Amino acid sequence: MKDDELENLLVPRFLNYVRYDTESNRHNEETPSTQGQWELAKVLQNELSALGLKDVKITEHCYVIARLPSSPGKENAPCVGFLAHLDTAGDVTGKNVKPQFVQNYDGEKIELTGGLCLDPAKEPDLASHKGKSIIHCDGTTLLGADNKAGIAEIMSAVEYLVKNPDIAHGSVEIIFTPDEETGKGLPEFPLNEIKSAACYTVDGGPMGEIESECFNAWKADIEFHGKVIHVGHARGILANAALMASTFATLLPRSESPEATDGYYGYYCPMEISGDLENAALEIFLRDFDLDGMKRRLDALESFAKTVEAQFPGGKVIVKTQPQYYNMKLKIDEKPDVLERLKKAMVNAGIEWRLKPIRGGTDGSRLTELGVPTPNIFTGGRNFHSRLEWVSVSEMCAACKVIVELIRLWGSN
Ligand SMILES: [Zn+2]
Repeated sequence: MKDDELENLLVPRFLNYVRYDTESNRHNEETPSTQGQWELAKVLQNELSALGLKDVKITEHCYVIARLPSSPGKENAPCVGFLAHLDTAGDVTGKNVKPQFVQNYDGEKIELTGGLCLDPAKEPDLASHKGKSIIHCDGTTLLGADNKAGIAEIMSAVEYLVKNPDIAHGSVEIIFTPDEETGKGLPEFPLNEIKSAACYTVDGGPMGEIESECFNAWKADIEFHGKVIHVGHARGILANAALMASTFATLLPRSESPEATDGYYGYYCPMEISGDLENAALEIFLRDFDLDGMKRRLDALESFAKTVEAQFPGGKVIVKTQPQYYNMKLKIDEKPDVLERLKKAMVNAGIEWRLKPIRGGTDGSRLTELGVPTPNIFTGGRNFHSRLEWVSVSEMCAACKVIVELIRLWGSN
């Protein structure tokens, strides 16, 4: 597989996909949470149909599903699936993305709008792309490589297989999902329509990374109920709910925040705080790779609640928690060939693989929970969810090669 041939499949696609505003909205309970996701879904549906795939459809909740039929004689090979998500994160706007395709990058600082810059002195990965092609945004939006790089890589791999029928393979399922970033899309996942024995999400970062374990994730909704009186006569009586909520937030250990942790360290992250004298609310995300560690954090929330109540006599703190998703490692370990084939595909594609824990969840982690083991493959993107997002074109080519090789391996036994 030649890089320039793959680039011609990948780059125009990617530049097209990022122009669709598919930012999801975590405050909307519907799936999809935004209309823009339908537009991209329809573009992909048309492309998949034009490539000759079968059973191409969009479900009522905006899941795109399609199948590449098996090569003659490979009808009994297990079906393998590839997933990527349509939406972009709500942290930074995804409207009017102006992708900048830089060929033969000169290795210098790249100035962006709003005083931002991509600095190779601060990003060794960027520095190592001197002389290569990258795509970044102009600084006013995110780029959307998360996850449109993954979509482009899957689509290009499919087109490559269609154009090269000599590469024998089993049946391949393509699944593009809405609202991955909000974590709210999965309840509508059309699991009964999925035939794959295993799936792979193509939603990771730098080349070679394989992600097969992720956080256990819990969410806590904390309610604060104050005791209200005219503030001019409040001495010894008022319990200010707004102050109770902010006090609670400051009790969370600063050394266990997202900005102070990496690797296998878990954290607490206040996501939203609101309220007034009488009532306030605090939403906190809790993350830990280990369930015992999660239990320690959940217990800590209860003791912080007691501490706040002690500081605000008459006030009441109620902690409500619920799991969001679980670490997928246990279930993936039950079917080791899913990971083994991925490692082999990387080796065959000349790529050095390494395992990395996902500090988040993907649709893959949730799908694994539902019984379809789904590790995650790199896309070549960097600085996701930010105005400094960029993607390496050579690593996109590498991801595409891995997908093609993986499909071939699943068909070869
Ligand atoms: Zn993603």
